[in-house]
Amino acid sequence: MPALILRTLGLIGGMSAESTSVYYQTLNRLVRARLGGLHSAKLVLWSVDFAPIAALQAQGDWDATGAALAEVARRLEGAGAEAILICANTMHLNAPQVEAAISVPLIHIADATAAALQALGVTRALLLATRFTMEKPFYRERLEAAGLAVQTPDAAERDRLHAIIYDELVVGVINPRSRDAVLAMIAQGRAAGCDGIIFGCTEIGLLLDPADMPLPTVDTAIAHCQAAVDFALG
Ligand code: GLU
Repeated sequence: MPALILRTLGLIGGMSAESTSVYYQTLNRLVRARLGGLHSAKLVLWSVDFAPIAALQAQGDWDATGAALAEVARRLEGAGAEAILICANTMHLNAPQVEAAISVPLIHIADATAAALQALGVTRALLLATRFTMEKPFYRERLEAAGLAVQTPDAAERDRLHAIIYDELVVGVINPRSRDAVLAMIAQGRAAGCDGIIFGCTEIGLLLDPADMPLPTVDTAIAHCQAAVDFALG
């Protein structure tokens, strides 16, 4: 019988801690589902304090966030990680700095998301995310390069969604009124021609279940974990 190869994953977590818990649980469950028995994911987790990172985001100091994440990635590689995951969509804005700091691969959340959307037959996706992810080009362009059309809610709704993420979801607050607000954004996106939905913030799956959505939906945290387990089991 060939020796089992289970590669070690390096997680940059804490952005937020609420969704990093989902990553930890999902990675372990997926490995157990694939290998059975007592198998679980081999991983190293470095969980940051999100407050200073979020303050730098709000100031637009992406050089500083990039330097912080690059340093964490280096340490994870030093601790034995064979691939790195940034456990958030927004902070993939700093994917180039992280990739430049390491010699192991970065498993990019937008690539995992594009593959999952395509597997569902989605061609035009409604991106629900932080304002940074919805409005800056780094994320949308990566999906478009994979052949997907991307749409976002209008400006007032983007503000609302950004506030729901930062004021509620990242601190573990689940508010039924916010759930209704996001469902209204989805209904509008559907009416405007979207044929799929991206939970493009790793906390949105805490508020809504992809299985209950009116269109095929990719929860980026789950898609990212699936891609990571594919890598780990290579
Ligand atoms: N976890 C979130 C994301 O997927 C938002 C928090 C952050 O800015 O990192 O974008």
